[in-house]
Amino acid sequence: QLSKCLLIMAPMAIRKVLVANRGEIACRVMRTAKRLGIRTVAVYSQADVCAPHVAQADEAVCIGPAPVGESYLKVEAILAAAKASGADAVHPGYGFLSENAGFAQACAAAHLNFIGPPAAAIDLMGNKRGAKIAMIKAGVPCVPGYEGDDQSDATLIAEAKKIGMPVMIKAAAGGGGRGMRLVADEADLAGAMQSARSEAKNAFGSDELILEKAIVQPRHVEIQVFGDKHGNVIHLGERDCSVQRRHQKVIEESPSPAVDAKLRAQMGEAAVNAAKACGYYGAGTCEFILDQSGHFYFLEMNTRLQVEHPVTEMVTGQDLVEWQFRVANGEPLPLGQSAISLTGHAIEARLYAEDPAQNFMPQTGKIVRWQLPLAGDIRVDAGIVEGGDISPFYDPMIAKLIAYGPTRDIARQKLMAALDDTVILGLNTNKTFLKQIVAHAVFAKGEATTAFIAEHLQGGGQTPPVATTEWALAAMVAYLRSVHARPGADAMLGWRNASPVDALYKFGSESTHAWVTVGMRHGQGFELGVAVGAPTFLECAVPETMTFAQARLTAGELVYTDVGGVVRRCRYGVLGETIYLDVAGGNRAFVDLTQAPPAKADGAGSGVLKAPLDGAVIAVKAEVGDQVKKGQVLIVVEAMKMEHQIKADIDGKVKALFVKPGVQAKTRQILAEIEGD
Ligand code: ADP
Ligand code: ADP
Ligand code: MG
Repeated sequence: QLSKCLLIMAPMAIRKVLVANRGEIACRVMRTAKRLGIRTVAVYSQADVCAPHVAQADEAVCIGPAPVGESYLKVEAILAAAKASGADAVHPGYGFLSENAGFAQACAAAHLNFIGPPAAAIDLMGNKRGAKIAMIKAGVPCVPGYEGDDQSDATLIAEAKKIGMPVMIKAAAGGGGRGMRLVADEADLAGAMQSARSEAKNAFGSDELILEKAIVQPRHVEIQVFGDKHGNVIHLGERDCSVQRRHQKVIEESPSPAVDAKLRAQMGEAAVNAAKACGYYGAGTCEFILDQSGHFYFLEMNTRLQVEHPVTEMVTGQDLVEWQFRVANGEPLPLGQSAISLTGHAIEARLYAEDPAQNFMPQTGKIVRWQLPLAGDIRVDAGIVEGGDISPFYDPMIAKLIAYGPTRDIARQKLMAALDDTVILGLNTNKTFLKQIVAHAVFAKGEATTAFIAEHLQGGGQTPPVATTEWALAAMVAYLRSVHARPGADAMLGWRNASPVDALYKFGSESTHAWVTVGMRHGQGFELGVAVGAPTFLECAVPETMTFAQARLTAGELVYTDVGGVVRRCRYGVLGETIYLDVAGGNRAFVDLTQAPPAKADGAGSGVLKAPLDGAVIAVKAEVGDQVKKGQVLIVVEAMKMEHQIKADIDGKVKALFVKPGVQAKTRQILAEIEGD
């Protein structure tokens, strides 16, 4: 796909680049560097020792502990890493230090080629107030509003009333949707300003605000611009990023279903003017808001490579990171404006380690399975590996899936299939939510505005309760694994008579558990009985039965023949006592409780309290030394949207507590110990 242009190759003076980032973008930048023969240096925090960006680099330097302030945002540590490794250039990726003018200057002072725009342009565009003043001066259409320096409540409220409701309050130093408030009612202005100010002060160290007329049901359409150090600036068309949750992009595409050639030329010209007005070179994005009547207004300029740049690469056939290297190398832009055209359609979906069913709470843990969709026209930019850990320290975006097709509908269909084929087990992701968006009729028609998710998806997908078949599949996996574990197992499965005794399993999932019996019926496959929720197997109501005519395990898949005679496959992963299945559109965890000590009402417990599931400890209700009674709630763990009470299983004294509120607990992790009386 990439680089169908014929470049007039100038010698590349950049020999070794340090990538001052992590995750998918660090991997993506290094991919192009390698293709260009540029050596790569990764930097990493102590939490990222095993991260893929480290493994993919030629050299790597540890720059400090996990928190970003002590590693990825620490300018001195990164400059020292560049010096130690002999890098001659620095690529900042996006986020982190990419829009930090001081970092760009510090690189230059250290004789490192900073692969980005001039520091002055970063500085100007980094402040929405200053940027807007400059853009109005340059004749770029902006949303009507207030960008004055009088920040008193009285002035802001008076200006907001002048603009008229609804009004958008924004932090001048803002980004990532933070410090932004939509106000529909004048009475709410003062309160919204106050909360925007404090959020902005916390996040950006500045509480300066601007006001804008809130455009109703707009689209977010942005223009990719590129400039070189010789004064040339062109644009590479638009991206539509209207599908947003809390002002954060979820799905992006190019071209925009709402932009025709004429509008593209107008917006492109405005974006090029914006870039020229600040002496821009390198990659940049001018974000616009497009109203229902086709008027567009400048929002802000992002002075870096954007997360969603791949959709532009796919429809233009260019490698924008290569362009960045060439521009930094002092070369003229590889192509002129007239050579740029958009062919076909590309749609990107951002895969996040967050659980839509838990209000999009970021998820941490081990990636038990990670399988990429392998199909033509599907690009996956990822920063994770199977067996790797998602730590709580960084952005939960873990991968991007980008589908290309000759038409929007074909690209959309390929993206849906690719989402189906993407297996990520061990932790919850927004995969199901992405599928709901891409399949939705409004999105299919190309009619999604920034209000789409809130209006049509009520903020997020609900995971359906565990179905009988899912319990059965989990038991089938456990059964076949135990059979395979025995010597001569395959031969036995083939023709020997079934064991007269059925296997019995107990699984926990979400807020409930189920008992499942599995029996092999000679010549007729497997018969299963599923009973959900009973305290003991003997107290089960009549179990629901089901048969699988055939079932076997192959390479991480359970292949089975269902009642209708259809051969199906279910991808699974196993970690400790937990079986993960790719069902209901995503990750579902089943904890095998078969061997767990019975929690009988009269049986004596062990005094060792373990977490029943992966989850967050939300309360610890005892202290070491406390005398506790059996049945008393000591710890509350929240998992899968449910609170699980961990109760003392004996009378005694709390000997040790291993967790405190706010920490993540893993399945079967010991939480507390009680010394029996
Ligand atoms: P914006 O939302 O400002 O238009 P993007 O859509 O390009 O910009 O997203 C940039 C965001 O990505 C940053 O604000 C940050 O939250 C997040 N981010 C930064 N670094 C990384 C990374 N290495 N991996 C994933 N996400 C990151
Ligand atoms: P950030 O720096 O956080 O990316 P932006 O100014 O780019 O902030 O705005 C982010 C999103 O918020 C836009 O994509 C759009 O959905 C919404 N938004 C911003 N300004 C307005 C406005 N004036 N009217 C309506 N929606 C807006
Ligand atoms: Mg923005």
